Amino acid sequence: MFKTKLIISAAVFALTFSACSSEKDEAFKDNCGGKAPGGAVGILMDISQDLEMGKATMNQIESDPNTYPILDSASNPIPYEHIYRIRTNILNSGKVYYKDDFPWRVRIVKDDNTLNAFCTPGGYIYVYTGIIKYLDNETQLAGVMGHEIAHADRRHGANQMLKIYGVQALIDIFTSGSTQQLANIAAQLLALKFSRSDETEADDYSVRYLYGTEYDPQGAKYFFQKIGTQGTPEFLSTHPNPENRVSNIEETWKCLGSGGNNGTFDQRYLDFKNSLPK
Ligand SMILES: [Zn+2]
Repeated sequence: MFKTKLIISAAVFALTFSACSSEKDEAFKDNCGGKAPGGAVGILMDISQDLEMGKATMNQIESDPNTYPILDSASNPIPYEHIYRIRTNILNSGKVYYKDDFPWRVRIVKDDNTLNAFCTPGGYIYVYTGIIKYLDNETQLAGVMGHEIAHADRRHGANQMLKIYGVQALIDIFTSGSTQQLANIAAQLLALKFSRSDETEADDYSVRYLYGTEYDPQGAKYFFQKIGTQGTPEFLSTHPNPENRVSNIEETWKCLGSGGNNGTFDQRYLDFKNSLPK
């Protein structure tokens, strides 16, 4: 009797759980190809593994201040206030699937010579002062951060690690908690180049995230128009060329209804740049 009850309650739980999860998934569908994150990684890997990989990568980054000179958040409250505002605006768009599941921790890397930003699986975001100082307004940076957030929210890095290691090897690493093997994963994630389709998807989701915020949804387009063929591998190598990316972003925006705001926030962005160490 007890056993039967247990089985029934487990079945009810499973049904309830899948109903909730598919209701959420429904809300993330749109007519422009938008859908909940899925694919092989969605079936085979729990998001707790994205978080593990993200933490391991964060540890690697933040124990290497020569390569990654992180701007201290406690002694630099003003620049962090600016970058937290951009992050919060994106997260509050209602379009980030794992908004409440990942920490979305953001850190500024104090390196004026590097035009880069990236986000690990599980939502650890790094933005270089080089790219902040190079851009003209807050909407361009929001477009870039939307793109980076999308790589984590769509689980692109986790999916790549799944392809490289296979599911059993990854589970073994997480179960054993081997520091060395986690460090190897972190090193691979830091050297990762995303596929063209992942890049295109991250561009599309940048538009979706910004749509409904105070920013122009095509922030990423203005970024690509400005950066052209400069920048780092995260934005450029193995990627669709910048012209194709610009037109893809335009198409996504048109498909979503050609709406949204058109704020660029030039003055506020200037205040952000001026608050950074010289
Ligand atoms: Zn990218």
